[in-house]
Amino acid sequence: MKQTDIDTLRAKSISPQQHLIEGKFVPASDGATMDIISPIDGTVLTSVARGTAQDMNAAIASARVGFDDGRWANQPPAARKKVLMKWAELIEKHALELAVLGVRDNGTEIGMAIKAEPGSAAGTIRYYAEALDKVNGEIAPTQSDVLALVSKEPVGVVGAIIPWNFPLMIGAWKLGPALACGNSVVLKPAETASLSLIRMAELALEAGLPAGVLNVVTGQGAVVGEAMGLSMDVDVLVFTGSGPTGRRLLEYSARSNLKRVYLELGGKSPNIVFADATNLDEAAAVSAAGIFRNSGQVCIAGSRLLVQEDIHDEFVAKVVAIAQGMRVGDPLDLNNQIGAVNSLPQLEQNLGFVKTAIAEGGEIATGGQQIHTQSGGYYMAPTIVTQVRPDATLAQKEVFGPVLGVTTFKDEAEAIKIANATDFGLSGAVWTSGLSRAHRMIKAIRTGVIHVNTYGGADNTVPLGGVGQSGNGHDKSLHALDKYTNLKTAWIKL
Ligand code: NAD
Repeated sequence: MKQTDIDTLRAKSISPQQHLIEGKFVPASDGATMDIISPIDGTVLTSVARGTAQDMNAAIASARVGFDDGRWANQPPAARKKVLMKWAELIEKHALELAVLGVRDNGTEIGMAIKAEPGSAAGTIRYYAEALDKVNGEIAPTQSDVLALVSKEPVGVVGAIIPWNFPLMIGAWKLGPALACGNSVVLKPAETASLSLIRMAELALEAGLPAGVLNVVTGQGAVVGEAMGLSMDVDVLVFTGSGPTGRRLLEYSARSNLKRVYLELGGKSPNIVFADATNLDEAAAVSAAGIFRNSGQVCIAGSRLLVQEDIHDEFVAKVVAIAQGMRVGDPLDLNNQIGAVNSLPQLEQNLGFVKTAIAEGGEIATGGQQIHTQSGGYYMAPTIVTQVRPDATLAQKEVFGPVLGVTTFKDEAEAIKIANATDFGLSGAVWTSGLSRAHRMIKAIRTGVIHVNTYGGADNTVPLGGVGQSGNGHDKSLHALDKYTNLKTAWIKL
């Protein structure tokens, strides 16, 4: 990746974007648009269609017809695989274009975006393309005068609502398995990260995905997202985003057709460092990356650092030194390690959390403030707050920003108690040289994902999902296919 190539792409103007419905770009039914503000400099980048409920319903109707007439679902598995493989290839071919477009929209540092966005999305699409002809039904061991077949069928129309932090990666986590199973999909990108998803969907058409099988509707969650949630024609709703929106989606389902709703929500993940950890320097470097990359806008971010009291001062000093050495600024400059916060409201919310943390007895070890650059934009210094009580706001609420709260503990029992004392249960980590302790902690920490002597493992082969108020579904791995299929039992009299 060369700086000159990035600069060439960033200099390109972006034309106003529209919905993608039935294979065509179309404006909002009332012609409305909304400005896209780049967090890099706070200026207007382009506009997208501000969708209406009517637009969403048109996209769902297109997906419904596209499913019912079998233009995709009834293609032989080998044919569907070929299209998805081609799509992955096109995503890779256009990787830098997609990454720069996405960064201009959402602010993630390009070094991370290139791997986590097109790189990861192509890998995910390919993983599910390879998996689609390995999903078998069952013959149940019933009595001998009947045959009971259990098959897995596509659910029909999938609605997918995506957040802004990693639109391509998280989009692919939904699109890969949903399309592999033969479903049609309507995608609703986040208001502040639509552009790269629209382009990735366009590449799907180029790869040969039939029109109507993947539709994209942009606009406000409260309008088009709500219309999707309340639709009688969406069979399964998959969502990554915040808890309050997740609750709304469950309500929409209850008020409409009882569609299945899978929620991947936030976290307040504990990163627990014991005094017997083998390498405190490595633990400090990985812990800092685990909270500050993408300005902390990572669902599994290790946002609560729990440090055993004997090493508290030494360890915090190491993490502070790393945080202070991180270069924050223009996310399209390869010299920077941390890019922009996604939007002004998000930055203001982050700063508000810092204020509250201080009011509740926390002490700023580093950061705490906005970083002002010559070009404007929304940047925040990596921030570490110590003396955070386990019941403090900073220990309980998700910031979704570059803010690390530090709490001390005496022993294993206290570490477990503090780690489990939130409503969330997404991720966590334990740093220890004790094998037995590591296993005890894996069992005791109530999360969907736990790391030992590392943080942020990512691979398509393993599920990602939470427990408690972190959600109820899993993305990635073969387990994700279950969300996009129905079980059908057929009794055959012999
Ligand atoms: P959000 O809930 O505000 O928005 C997510 C999506 O929901 C957006 O597309 C938005 O337009 C849409 N939406 C908003 N209101 C809606 C409504 N009333 N009806 C339907 N759709 C609506 O969340 P966000 O701020 O975009 O994303 C950040 C959150 O996502 C954080 O809490 C973070 O932890 C979480 N997240 C979780 C994971 C995970 O895998 N568990 C991954 C990434 C982000």
